[in-house]
Amino acid sequence: MTCTDCEHHVTAALEQAGAEQFSADFRRGLARFTWPESAGEAALRAAVARAGYTPGRLRAESPGTAAALGGEADYDLLVLGAGSAAFAAAIRGRDAGYRVALAEAGTLGGTCVNVGCVPSKALLAAGAAYWAAGHPRFAGITTSAGPVDLAALVAQKDDLVDALRQEKYAGLVDAYGFDVLPGHAAFTGPDTVEVDGRAIRPGAVLIATGASPAAPPIPGLSGAGYLTSTTALDLKAVPRRLAVIGANAVGLELGQFFLHLGSAVIFVDVADRIAPFEEPEVSQALAGVLAGQGATIHAPAQVLAVERDGDMRRIRAAIGGAEIVIDADEVLVATGRAPNSAGLGLQAAGVATDGRGARTRRVRRPRGSALPDTPPAGPAGPQRPHRHRPRPGRRRPDRGTGRGGLPAAARRCRLVRAGPVPGRLRLPGLAPRLGPHRPQHGPSPGAPSRRPLTGPFRPARAGHGHGSRRPPAR
Ligand SMILES: Cc1cc2nc3c(=O)[nH]c(=O)nc-3n(C[C@H](O)[C@H](O)[C@H](O)COP(=O)(O)OP(=O)(O)OC[C@H]3O[C@@H](n4cnc5c(N)ncnc54)[C@H](O)[C@@H]3O)c2cc1C
Repeated sequence: MTCTDCEHHVTAALEQAGAEQFSADFRRGLARFTWPESAGEAALRAAVARAGYTPGRLRAESPGTAAALGGEADYDLLVLGAGSAAFAAAIRGRDAGYRVALAEAGTLGGTCVNVGCVPSKALLAAGAAYWAAGHPRFAGITTSAGPVDLAALVAQKDDLVDALRQEKYAGLVDAYGFDVLPGHAAFTGPDTVEVDGRAIRPGAVLIATGASPAAPPIPGLSGAGYLTSTTALDLKAVPRRLAVIGANAVGLELGQFFLHLGSAVIFVDVADRIAPFEEPEVSQALAGVLAGQGATIHAPAQVLAVERDGDMRRIRAAIGGAEIVIDADEVLVATGRAPNSAGLGLQAAGVATDGRGARTRRVRRPRGSALPDTPPAGPAGPQRPHRHRPRPGRRRPDRGTGRGGLPAAARRCRLVRAGPVPGRLRLPGLAPRLGPHRPQHGPSPGAPSRRPLTGPFRPARAGHGHGSRRPPAR
């Protein structure tokens, strides 16, 4: 399904086949309905196929069994964090009939929309437009670039972030029917979590607390002061000289943004090339573009120390056997991110972590759990932050910054603890026909048996749509 018309076509087809009480959502490629078993699954499928759609898996939504904890859980699923991974999980949980809450210590939406993908790409686009205006490429076309008001640009970026946070995150909370609990969350025991002092007994917990910028232990760095990917997005003036330590995705894109606005940018990476986790040809092409636009690249170079000299920062770095000095007005450290796992009370939950706070051991699955025991979503899972000294020839999958289109965390949304799910649904418009209204132990004598079903439907018609299922909200 690709549009609201598709929703009508699918529900009309289902109605013809005897189904009732529909709701279809083309955005999720999902139709929900109750279905008299006498009608037969084959008839339903045939009707949907006749309408031009390919029916996916039909799934009965049963009311389920009691919560894993034995007593009444406050929520079936509590997600720690409210970023893209958390939202993907919450939506999935609601689809499965869970009562879901998200606990968020910071800003709804997490990294991607607030201080990651969205603001960085918005600024990158602005920087590219400015650069293009100042570097006309076509004969007979004269363009020029005026002064930059970075404060105004950052304010515009903030407006965009606010709008997308509302549209892609806040707006989904009521639409899907989950709760957001503001406050810092921490385990107080294997089965209990406290959110800002409020004790919660969840049936299952997903850790989706993301990661924060991390800096390597370079002598003098913290005293000299430095930018991170978060603070660099809020600068109000373009630095004359910007040194970027760490030339992987985040360092490169933010460095190029300032390069486009007129900064003299110097990239320093300990690896033997920029974008060290891409194919060598990609690194080479990127280096060619950046150098062509005036950037200086030192790779491999080992930063030895950073010191403050008035308003300026001075970096000492080793290249081969030689030592160089780089003077810069600002230093951006983009060497990776560390999991937000400190203060989560992971020990109380029985989760072991390594020295960086990443999970090292699987969590024991509660007895009788319907779902497999699995690691946390996102950067709290086992991962390595950007190595300051990469080993030659070794590649590692990026688990923190999610190269490859979707945030890595969103692609790896997994449940830590899970138990059987009670059959209560509070989705607007769906609750009356699901869960509590379904007989627990079979239909009453004489009543037609009806199974509430869900199933994804893909358009079968060639060229009809733009894809069947969207990735979860980011
Ligand atoms: C500059 C930059 C650009 C990027 N660009 C891209 C891109 O173009 N494409 C792409 O795919 N990815 C990109 N990424 C990566 C992407 O943003 C992340 O992979 C993704 O946002 C991680 O999502 P998450 O839900 O795992 O964590 P987050 O979005 O970080 O969410 C975790 C949330 O948990 C909250 N939290 C932490 N601890 C607690 C606690 N104890 N209690 C309650 N809440 C807590 C945090 O406040 C946060 O809101 C970029 C990242 C950066 C920094």
